[in-house]
Amino acid sequence: MRCPYCVEGGHFKVMIGQGRGDWYMCARCGHLTLPTDPLFECTCAKCVELKNREPKTRG
Ligand SMILES: [Zn+2]
Ligand SMILES: [Zn+2]
Repeated sequence: MRCPYCVEGGHFKVMIGQGRGDWYMCARCGHLTLPTDPLFECTCAKCVELKNREPKTRG
């Protein structure tokens, strides 16, 4: 898994598996992902910032 927010060496930063379950966390920004649960919503600063911006819905 790679963090969509952090780039390292020209590639997205690899996220670290957390052992239990399928959690992955970015060591730099704290972004969390849970690939086995598509409904999981990360609450890291980057994701919150994205949510706070009103996304323009297509159509
Ligand atoms: Zn990150
Ligand atoms: Zn996040």
